[in-house]
Amino acid sequence: FKNEIDTDFTLPQNQIWANKIRDKYKNISKEKPLKAYMVIDGKERESDEIKEVMDKSQFSQNVILGSCFMAGEDELKKAISVAKSDKDGWSKLDLAQRTQILMKVANEFRKNRGELIGMAAAELGKVFSETDVEVTEAIDFLNFYPYSVKKLSELDGIKLEHKGVGLVISPWNFPIAIAVGGIAATLATGNRVILKPSSDALLCAYMLCKCFWDAGVSKNTLQFTPTQGVLAGEHLVKSKDIDFVIFTGSEDTAYGMLSERPDIHLSAETGGKDATIVTALCDRDQAVKNVVASAFNNSGQKCSATSLLVLERELYEDAEFKKMLVDATLSLNVGSVWDLENKISSLVNIPSGNLRNALEHLDDGEKWIITPSYAQNGNPYMLRPSIRWGTKKGDFCHMNELFGPVLSVMCAEDLDDAIDIVNSTGYGLTSGIESLDEREVERFKDGILAGNLYVNRVTTGAIVIRQPFGGMGKSAIGSGKKAGGFNYVSQFTNITCETTTD
Ligand code: GLU
Repeated sequence: FKNEIDTDFTLPQNQIWANKIRDKYKNISKEKPLKAYMVIDGKERESDEIKEVMDKSQFSQNVILGSCFMAGEDELKKAISVAKSDKDGWSKLDLAQRTQILMKVANEFRKNRGELIGMAAAELGKVFSETDVEVTEAIDFLNFYPYSVKKLSELDGIKLEHKGVGLVISPWNFPIAIAVGGIAATLATGNRVILKPSSDALLCAYMLCKCFWDAGVSKNTLQFTPTQGVLAGEHLVKSKDIDFVIFTGSEDTAYGMLSERPDIHLSAETGGKDATIVTALCDRDQAVKNVVASAFNNSGQKCSATSLLVLERELYEDAEFKKMLVDATLSLNVGSVWDLENKISSLVNIPSGNLRNALEHLDDGEKWIITPSYAQNGNPYMLRPSIRWGTKKGDFCHMNELFGPVLSVMCAEDLDDAIDIVNSTGYGLTSGIESLDEREVERFKDGILAGNLYVNRVTTGAIVIRQPFGGMGKSAIGSGKKAGGFNYVSQFTNITCETTTD
């Protein structure tokens, strides 16, 4: 299996390409507003409920980027019955046929890389390089899941049967990769799929569905049902004709689904309170570089982002190391997504909940070493990275996911203490160590309770097959199978083992 390659934005020809995308999408809202239709029962459909989509790259001016027709109760019911009936016979295709179509879909993503990057910049303020890796991951999912179904089916005496209808509820922070991953795994195993995207990422979701339809997945096999979260809960999740749900979002929503449908197969990737431990035996330059990228890329809006930096006392008390961390953070360019030099752009939503709380309050003994501030004359979406120092066990920022560009620094007496600090959050998604000492690394690997452990590397950007992604504890509710790993697809099939006696 070969992974797809990201765009190298340092190459002159790629910079010309990126500038063209910028020029097109920067002005796209000045042209005819974009329209996304719900796609149910084989056709694009309009409805009375139209959601306006704002241009997040120019949010201060309240510019409308486009609109999306939203599904109501009747449309959702129709989508389920069409999916259930397998109108176009997707489940009758053999694996080779499904694989061939999904490989064509992967090609559509290759062709549309620039369009998807431009759309995510306009709809979500997502910087180009961050969407680029999503498209790469999407292509990997499309190639890898059929391949892993093949591997599974080659096991002796195993028979795979599709489960039926899968519902994919995708988030806005990875508007492309996570939706495509869910759809690809569902289709690779012979199921039909309904996509309910986050209401913050409707145009991206519609665009990615088009890649599937254009490559030959029918509009009955993949239906697109943008709808309100409440309606999705009431009429999709509760329906007995939905056989499994692939969900990325908050743990409360995941627990809510399980209490409504204890019988459903749920594969949920929920939150994280991820840490990087840095010991005195690290390479300091590398450690600072990795921590800053892990904490602040995509404004920290990743489940995998490092939001706790746990320093061994020697480093914690080292003024020079602290200065390196502050300087590296302050060197990040924050501003418009259309200025391709900017590493960090706007938030998808104005800070609220835990993030707002963290920005406004310090616990006893904590202080800011970079105080929160907003770029572009105090624009409330343009939150610059900030760092709090002296967070202690049990403090608000030790225990709660913030989903924003705020890093909390904690002091550990030694590696065991650091491991204890990390494990006591109750989450267990990603965790990193910066250390050049093999014994420390071994101790970290043995002691940390998290799904993805990274050594001298950023805690974000898991690569399909190489770093299957998923957590434990509050970070994975339901099946706990890892995306991009070999057994991910197994949860969407009924596996029969045939045994013979001889
Ligand atoms: N898979 C992504 C990563 O490894 C994170 C996904 C998420 O934030 O939900 O960074």
